Amino acid sequence: MDRVFNFSPGPSMLAQPVLEKAQKDLLCYGNTGMSVMEMSHRSKMYTDIYDKTVADLRKLMNIPDDYDVLFLQGGATEQFSAIPLNLMVNGKADYVDSGNFAHLAAEEAKRYGEVNIAASSREDTYTYVPDMKTANFSADADYVHICQNNTIYGTRYIELPDVKAPIVADCSSMILSEPMDVTKYGVIYAGAQKNIGPSGLCVMVVKRALLGNANKLCPKLMNWTVQSEKGSMYNTPNTWGIYLAGLTFDWLLQNGGIDAIHKVNVEKAAMLYDFLDNSKLFKATAQKEYRSLMNVTFITGDADKDAAFVKAAAAEGLVNLKGHRSVGGMRASIYNAMPVEGVKALVDFMKKFEAANA
Ligand SMILES: *Cc1c(COP(=O)(O)O)cnc(C)c1O
Repeated sequence: MDRVFNFSPGPSMLAQPVLEKAQKDLLCYGNTGMSVMEMSHRSKMYTDIYDKTVADLRKLMNIPDDYDVLFLQGGATEQFSAIPLNLMVNGKADYVDSGNFAHLAAEEAKRYGEVNIAASSREDTYTYVPDMKTANFSADADYVHICQNNTIYGTRYIELPDVKAPIVADCSSMILSEPMDVTKYGVIYAGAQKNIGPSGLCVMVVKRALLGNANKLCPKLMNWTVQSEKGSMYNTPNTWGIYLAGLTFDWLLQNGGIDAIHKVNVEKAAMLYDFLDNSKLFKATAQKEYRSLMNVTFITGDADKDAAFVKAAAAEGLVNLKGHRSVGGMRASIYNAMPVEGVKALVDFMKKFEAANA
């Protein structure tokens, strides 16, 4: 069977050269005589893979030396607990509630300390990111948590909060899609299954100055200081996931890095939003100013037509376009690995569907 264009929000498409390389190396990696999955995480062959993966991420994101790179298990969600456990020194944090994941992160943090919701778009079904200029940040927060791209609603931050406390950003669905100034953040974290590799892996960039403050009840595996000292290997890490992440980093570097992929991402998103803005049938749901480059949400306004569209698209090899169960409608996730041709094929099909159903 041919590969489809997979618009899944995550786990999502991986770049074809990444999968081909993994396939080629599956039985024997280089001259080791074994699969990466069969290697000891302490072996030289594996630590070489690990070190190159870290170095390539540093190169891609231009990560300064006073930041550590960690590859942890438990996805992004485990960090919803780890963040307060590592950073709530004075027991208080600010959270911006801009979507479902941002909300879950705040709810989890409440179990460990005081959470101030500095701004929220929850009452407006998260169709925008709250204005950072009018947000109610506290003077004594240990950190400010944001979710930089709201995967379910298709919105993204257009400016970071201007705050003294370190910014902790869930970048699961936008990391590596556009240039980021790492020095503006205390912590960047991302579940790998959107823009990096397989699920079960969380990529973290942590400012070293924030380490050393974990709550004494913080589980060792979630303690960033311990993981930093052990090179993410307090126990056996997700070796295969890290290897695939490394292949993705390498693929990005071979293709011009973040600036180059960002251009492609802007082109893909513009193609889709331009069509939506001129369509008589489809309508984009996120407020224009906050539209995501990675997750494009849209509706026809008629649930039956939405369902018919999703079904007909799948028959054409354009799959996983159904919106999140909490919002309905459609969502096209167009992460780095989605080629321009995939978005072209989607727009062409939407035109055809519109002509037949408007
Ligand atoms: C997918 C996603 C998560 C959840 O990631 P897991 O790896 O399943 O824990 C959290 N935050 C955002 C923004 C996401 O898109």
